[in-house]
Amino acid sequence: IPGSYEQNNIFAKIIRGEASAARVYEDDAVVAFMDIQPVERGHVLVISKTSKARNLLEIDLADLDKIMAVARRVGQAQMKALGANGFSIEQNNAYGQTVFHLHVHVIPRYRGQPWGE
Ligand code: 5GP
Repeated sequence: IPGSYEQNNIFAKIIRGEASAARVYEDDAVVAFMDIQPVERGHVLVISKTSKARNLLEIDLADLDKIMAVARRVGQAQMKALGANGFSIEQNNAYGQTVFHLHVHVIPRYRGQPWGE
């Protein structure tokens, strides 16, 4: 997509501590926090703290690997701690994307709950 990474997007501010977020996991490379408008109870976002990628086309695969390792652990925790029956990984690129710092949605899925928006 045209343009470049915007340093003052909301997730960059969360990384720098300039905006608050309910963090559920953090290390040197990755942070995971609760989505402010969850589509399902326990909806988490996972982002890189070091990559300036806006989307999947721009991210280094080594950085993506670290994000996905955390996303998998978050999904496991949703099943164990929240009683989710499973989880969905979603990741929007350009169209449908509202925050332009690559993020992976980890959405717990509960049997009997309607699927989708
Ligand atoms: P996208 O549509 O770009 O894939 O998803 C962006 C996500 O970021 C949305 O699910 C939205 O609810 C979430 N979001 C937007 N602003 C904030 C914020 O300030 N804090 C948190 N925790 N989530 C946000």
